[in-house]
Amino acid sequence: MVRIIHRGDIIHVIMSSVAGIYILQQVDTKIDRSKKRIAEINSVLDDNSAVVETLRQLQEASVLMDSATKKHAGVQGEIDIVSSKYENGEKRLYSGTVTNPKELKDLQDQGEALVRRIAELEDAKLEAMIVEEDCKEGLEGANRNHEVALHERKVLEREMDSESMTILDDIERLEGEREVALNSIPDELIDRYELARSKYRGLAVALVDDGMCSGCGLGVSTGHVQAARSGSRIVTCDNCNRFLYVK
Ligand SMILES: [Zn+2]
Repeated sequence: MVRIIHRGDIIHVIMSSVAGIYILQQVDTKIDRSKKRIAEINSVLDDNSAVVETLRQLQEASVLMDSATKKHAGVQGEIDIVSSKYENGEKRLYSGTVTNPKELKDLQDQGEALVRRIAELEDAKLEAMIVEEDCKEGLEGANRNHEVALHERKVLEREMDSESMTILDDIERLEGEREVALNSIPDELIDRYELARSKYRGLAVALVDDGMCSGCGLGVSTGHVQAARSGSRIVTCDNCNRFLYVK
């Protein structure tokens, strides 16, 4: 609380108040920027689409691989069955137990048909192996991509976490500076400042730089500049209404 007794004291209080809200504004601008960056970091971290997408591709490649392996195994199984049938037929044909010419002819015909079927199946097996090989390459590629995405994600998280921690420390320090700045400003002015900040997108105090208001970019009258410089009263920009501060 500030006790005002003499006129000189009043001017002193106002001067330190204007300087105070300018400092407060600078601190708040830094806090706003830090919080905005934290929000950006959170939004970057929320986007995990690269990992999700590469995982989806990996699962898809894995399904294709399973199906190709099954296909290959299925054809091989069929080859085994047909081959065994062929071998049994051949055994019977040359065993000497079959003497009936008609039966011998049937066995021979069946043997030839089975040989043709085995040849067809061998072709299908070759095709299945080629598909399986392609799927294997696809799966390995998808696995690599997913590993890369996971690694990049980990690196990103490490960087973002480290940046976040630095920013949170900054915010904590700035909040301390804010408390100090608040102590030099009368409550009524703080209320006006907060109201102006909410109205003017966070910027309540504008520095007058080379006769221009840094808040809106328009010129400030010489009278205003002088009054603001003297610090004898609170001066606001005629255009954007922000408090004017002259260094
Ligand atoms: Zn202005």
